[in-house]
Amino acid sequence: MDQSPQKRPKNVVILCAVLGVAVLAVVLFLLIPKLTGSSRDSRSKNADAGNTVLSENEDADALSDAQENADIPETPKKEEEPETITATPPEESKEAPSQTQETPEAQTPAPQEQPASPPEPEGNGHIVAVDAGHQAQGNSEQEPIGPGAGETKAKVASGTSGSVSGLQEYELNLQVSLKLRDELQARGYEVIMIRETNDVNISNAERAQIANGSGAEIFLRIHANGSDDSSVNGALTMAPTSGNPYVSNIAAASQKLSGDVLDCYCAATGFKKRSVMEVDNMSGINWCTIPVTIVEMGFMSNPEDDARMADEAMQYQMAEGIADGVDQYFTE
Ligand SMILES: [Zn+2]
Repeated sequence: MDQSPQKRPKNVVILCAVLGVAVLAVVLFLLIPKLTGSSRDSRSKNADAGNTVLSENEDADALSDAQENADIPETPKKEEEPETITATPPEESKEAPSQTQETPEAQTPAPQEQPASPPEPEGNGHIVAVDAGHQAQGNSEQEPIGPGAGETKAKVASGTSGSVSGLQEYELNLQVSLKLRDELQARGYEVIMIRETNDVNISNAERAQIANGSGAEIFLRIHANGSDDSSVNGALTMAPTSGNPYVSNIAAASQKLSGDVLDCYCAATGFKKRSVMEVDNMSGINWCTIPVTIVEMGFMSNPEDDARMADEAMQYQMAEGIADGVDQYFTE
């Protein structure tokens, strides 16, 4: 009985202690999850991320790096992995710029080359006069061999003919001259043709004067040779001498033009290279005021030369060779 009053206070104390512990426990239970919640979440994220490191790292890095680095040992590994991953793209991007730097460089010359080649057909600024020697009917009327000359020659000789081809020289000359015209135009030259048909009547002095007044810078006179000796073969060109009373002022340039054309013509065709002949009695030269050459492409009296010159494929090579000489004349 007496014990009950004594027991009551003891029970109260025990109850208070139990309640206090319980309250503390509740408080701890409520607080702990909040304190540890973030690391649990990040651990679960890490676990998920670990399965798909490569794909998720790029997105996860920026969001979780700051939090994860502090307490998670895996993060250093993850940092290394992302670094290697992100390192690869930078390397590629480093290579990519270098490639893009190279490609622009490679592309820049290309555009420069492209404009360079199109302009050629549009014109390279040079004008060339071409005369296919002779004509269907010769003209034996006489004309002075140069301005003020007492000596005269036939206005147009009839020319030679092919020993095996059956071609007349005026025909062969025109065939090659038309191909030469096309070749020069393809290279950007403006070409003045003295004649484009065989049925004309233009004297040698007149041909020179047409070339003089055409704006052309040089005059190419296309001919083929003939000899009583059928074994004589090969190509030559003709130019005036510095002592020529009519055209001494163009002698040096004409000799250079003759040399360039002969060299390139023989190189392109394989015709025997004879020489640059010095001639001062040619009306078609002595009436010129611009550098001039006579191209004797080969000997129609020589069967081999004649057959080669009559071949159309060879005629294209002949035209290219002469055009090469013109190129060389203007580039040197
Ligand atoms: Zn001739």
